[in-house]
Amino acid sequence: MTPQPLPDDAGVLAVDVGGTTVKAEVVDGCGRVLTSGATPTPSGPAALESVSRLGRGLLEQVGAQRPVARAGLVLPGIVDRVRRIGVRSANVGWSDLSFGPELEASWRIPVLVDHDVTLAGWAEWRTGAGRGADDVVFVVLGTGISAALVVDGRLVRGGGGGGGPSGSGGQAGELGHVVVRADGPRCGCGGRGCLEAVASGSAIAREYARLAGREVDGAHDVLLALDDDPIARRVWDDAVAALADGVSAVVALLAPSRIVFGGGLAEAGEALIGPLRKALGERVFVTPAPDLLPAHHGARAGLVGAALLARLGGTDGG
Ligand SMILES: [Zn+2]
Repeated sequence: MTPQPLPDDAGVLAVDVGGTTVKAEVVDGCGRVLTSGATPTPSGPAALESVSRLGRGLLEQVGAQRPVARAGLVLPGIVDRVRRIGVRSANVGWSDLSFGPELEASWRIPVLVDHDVTLAGWAEWRTGAGRGADDVVFVVLGTGISAALVVDGRLVRGGGGGGGPSGSGGQAGELGHVVVRADGPRCGCGGRGCLEAVASGSAIAREYARLAGREVDGAHDVLLALDDDPIARRVWDDAVAALADGVSAVVALLAPSRIVFGGGLAEAGEALIGPLRKALGERVFVTPAPDLLPAHHGARAGLVGAALLARLGGTDGG
């Protein structure tokens, strides 16, 4: 049975399990945050106990003041949202970790589970920079690269993951593993020249270190040095060109009217989106050029998606 949307006065618990931090909030129907918390993400199965404890703490804080009716949890990696299992996450290092039933026993409310990037994109489409458009691509540019797709007013899930006819899969949007440089560096997935291996924040920092002979903390350091360091300029321009190659394939296939960029690298704003717009203009001729926009919810998009999932009882309503 599909859960029904909750009334506005009901609170929901939203939890976003990231590679380094678990973030959680209790939110009311107007989007007001009643209480929030965070805790480091331990690697492996220990993540479950951390999530459980964080959520329980927040539920105790709001207590009788506000009944919390349902929870939404978003996870990285491959997620089986029907069985409510974290199937695999290379970052956090778990496999087949069951969250749903265990957290329901701990929190004593129904718990819905979904994929972090898909729900962040869904949140941007429903309530953020993609609002009002029927064809939106949401691209997360961070230590990895991934996407969520909205086509003809529907969130695209695809197969894979938990797989099978139950609809539990949903690995559409793996933009980071589109090959953009056939002779490029090895990717964590086992392939070669994937977009993620060339243009993610970690790939940019790695390439700069290789060419300059010195380490940097991340892609932001490369961005800050663009005006007076020719190596930084070259690495950044190459990454933007690779991004434009990858994104132009999506534009040719789906003809989105908007592409929304989130994740750490997208915090560069126009410094990233400006050159990307120009590079995309040099590659897109058949389909109309989409609007390129920064994400509205920023780093909170996953939490906003988790709260919306809990409130609406699913993503099927579009
Ligand atoms: Zn790959």
